[in-house]
Amino acid sequence: MGVDIFRFTVLDDVPELVHGIFGRQGGVSPAPYDTLNVGADVADHPENVHRNVEIACAALGTAPADLVTVRQVHSNRVMRVGKGHRGQKVGELDGLITDEPGVPLILRFADCVPILTYDPRRGVLGAVHAGWRGTVAGAVRALVLAMMREFGSHPEDIRAGIGPSIGPCCYEVGEDVVRAAAQAWGAVEAEPLFRPVNGRLHFDLWQANYRQLAELGVGQIEIAGICTACHSHRFFSHRASGGLTGRFPMIAMLK
Ligand SMILES: [Zn+2]
Repeated sequence: MGVDIFRFTVLDDVPELVHGIFGRQGGVSPAPYDTLNVGADVADHPENVHRNVEIACAALGTAPADLVTVRQVHSNRVMRVGKGHRGQKVGELDGLITDEPGVPLILRFADCVPILTYDPRRGVLGAVHAGWRGTVAGAVRALVLAMMREFGSHPEDIRAGIGPSIGPCCYEVGEDVVRAAAQAWGAVEAEPLFRPVNGRLHFDLWQANYRQLAELGVGQIEIAGICTACHSHRFFSHRASGGLTGRFPMIAMLK
């Protein structure tokens, strides 16, 4: 089977941008990392991970040796990168921005939210990893603010895609998440982001991130609306697998 690539509609007609969020098929890893696992911090064999990264890069026409990545730590830290960072893991952070062609960004997911942002006017690309901690910490807000600060982007020019990730249908959370959201946004503002299901609360990561983008005035926002836990045959899902699974990549690059 070949690879399975999700692309955002709002970014797919942009000739100077390549991007993709990969389903789990088309790789070489055995269960429970089957098959396109790019997570090096799970118990998959490093050679499998390396080969899977090559497969994903080849599908987009990017070079594995050029990838810029991070150690994802559920933060709201964002870094501006360029050609000088190619081939590097640039730090413990969760967001990357660049205006340089030929600098592929890669982040890794299994339920957390992959978000891409692109400003066609300034030619600026952004990518962020946002689980509940990153979402509550305002990671995607920080990403857009960094584009504005570093490159003079205007939010109304920016197109954003909120990718496949655990949906409000499946993302049951505890009191710690409810408290953190209330602290971040105020109880009244946070309340609509939680949905009662069978006496428990489900957190809507998609709306929580959408709202941050909308409040900044981002011009076009797409929500993929694909729940990784509901579709764990297609995407790696930490929750649906009981924690034993791979990580799928989001890769994006300016041509
Ligand atoms: Zn679901």
